Amino acid sequence: MAYPRFLTYEDYFSEPYSAFHQQRRRRKGLPMPLTVTGTLRAYLNHSRWIAECPSNCGDAVFASRVLRRYTCSEPGCPDTGLYRVVFPPNFRQLEAELAKRPKHINGLPVHDNWQYPETVADIRDENRHRGIS
Ligand SMILES: [Zn+2]
Repeated sequence: MAYPRFLTYEDYFSEPYSAFHQQRRRRKGLPMPLTVTGTLRAYLNHSRWIAECPSNCGDAVFASRVLRRYTCSEPGCPDTGLYRVVFPPNFRQLEAELAKRPKHINGLPVHDNWQYPETVADIRDENRHRGIS
């Protein structure tokens, strides 16, 4: 199966994202939070859109564009919130600029990362600096 260059949860899994989170919580013996308590920004890590625990406990999962929610499933994590996950409004432009980069250079994957507050212009400048236009 061919995957798109930039991946979200739905590109990898067919199980609904809500069931994925419920199973993660249940496996760890954690109740599922029902009320949204805050907002998280999705970021790109090696071409994967990621939602990460704001407490920096290390829990991170594929972000979903269908159900833009996240809750941490790390036992002992003090953060028990349910978060609304926000993608940058110009994510297609960010992806388009990053997609100009070759997938591999000398056999190694290329830096396909993005995080707030990087702009499309920032990525374009990095590309230009690397000789990519
Ligand atoms: Zn956590």
